Amino acid sequence: MPSDYFKTVPDAQGRFGEYGGAYLPPQLVEQFKDITHAYLTISKSHRFISELRSIRKHFQGRPTPVYFAERLSNTLGGARIYLKREDLNHTGAHKLNHCMGEGLLAKFMGKRKLIAETGAGQHGVALATAAAYFGLECEIHMGEVDIAKEHPNVVRMKLLGATVVPVTAGLRTLKEAVDSAFTAYLAQPETSLYCIGSVVGPHPFPMLVREFQRVVGIEAREQFFEMTGELPDNVVACVGGGSNAIGLFSAFLEDSSALYGVEPAGRSFKTGDHAATMTYGTPGVIHGFKCYLLQDKEGQPAPVYSIASGLDYPGVGPEHCHLKDAGRITYVTIDDRDCLEAFYLLSRTEGIIPALESAHAVAYALKLAQDKKYQSILVNLSGRGDKDIDFVTERYGYTVEEMRARWNTSRPG
Ligand SMILES: *Cc1c(COP(=O)(O)O)cnc(C)c1O
Repeated sequence: MPSDYFKTVPDAQGRFGEYGGAYLPPQLVEQFKDITHAYLTISKSHRFISELRSIRKHFQGRPTPVYFAERLSNTLGGARIYLKREDLNHTGAHKLNHCMGEGLLAKFMGKRKLIAETGAGQHGVALATAAAYFGLECEIHMGEVDIAKEHPNVVRMKLLGATVVPVTAGLRTLKEAVDSAFTAYLAQPETSLYCIGSVVGPHPFPMLVREFQRVVGIEAREQFFEMTGELPDNVVACVGGGSNAIGLFSAFLEDSSALYGVEPAGRSFKTGDHAATMTYGTPGVIHGFKCYLLQDKEGQPAPVYSIASGLDYPGVGPEHCHLKDAGRITYVTIDDRDCLEAFYLLSRTEGIIPALESAHAVAYALKLAQDKKYQSILVNLSGRGDKDIDFVTERYGYTVEEMRARWNTSRPG
């Protein structure tokens, strides 16, 4: 990758190669230009940078460590696995990195309110946390089906002072929540900021969220080098929209480290049973930007599924699409079962319960270790698994043996 990569990609139209851009309703074109202009101005200001640094250190608990998973590595044939511990970031995942950035941007722009949709509630909780910190109002749109499924996150958002708006249209899940949040934002663009939860959506969000997540890679590269005197041979992260992955990968684009983005293969390769966008998608437009997309013949987003609800999105960040076509990042898949094996193994060997999303990355590292016998593998542990423990244990039990036995008698729903 060229050394001025981050200055030239995306271009002024928000294009990453042929992907990205901003496909917006006419009423929002000016608003998104304003957000781009504000971000490009404010993000270079000394006050903004020093306040963001201070927040990261004193509120979020950064830098998060890089940890050598020695006992996990001992179960392998010689490969060494290292974990970037984003699960130790405040609120338990990497999402707060960009939510605090978006909240600070809203504050500098003089906005009063943050608006977003949420699926499983993880983005909603992180954004509600940022809103509480900055003293902003917060409105989170969530499908009624998800509200019922993700009760603890609804409770968290309300405790943090957010208004949770139930969405009753259509299938009452994420897609309808996006439409609802967009409509709400259209009615009040002067006083509110629409905050996207990953490196997706219309320009400038894929760029802006990447810039806020780059801290993960900048820290990890330095920490890894300090621990080992070299750079990692392999770098692995799970990909939903792609924000934790781009955050980590961005620091290694010019190095010789091999980069692997891990997508969910779910329960089978039939449409509706997975969310492996890079592997099975074709270019298309969703939610205002162009990317690889799992789509039907009419170009409508196809149904998707993963055991990890943070990974089940039919699109993917435009920068990932660009870097796939450029051959710099390799995209691979992990299915539900391998994800669960990694979930139990990391819990038992290291005392770290990973989010099911992050367990996909761990599972791929375990596979990679078989081929790359004496190499190092740096994995982004994007979040902690507390949110997943009831679901996993009720359905699959407490040990990997119980899980295997139940797996053979029942299929996941
Ligand atoms: C939301 C989430 C993801 C997926 O989002 P990306 O934008 O692809 O990073 C991954 N891990 C955790 C823990 C999450 O909460």
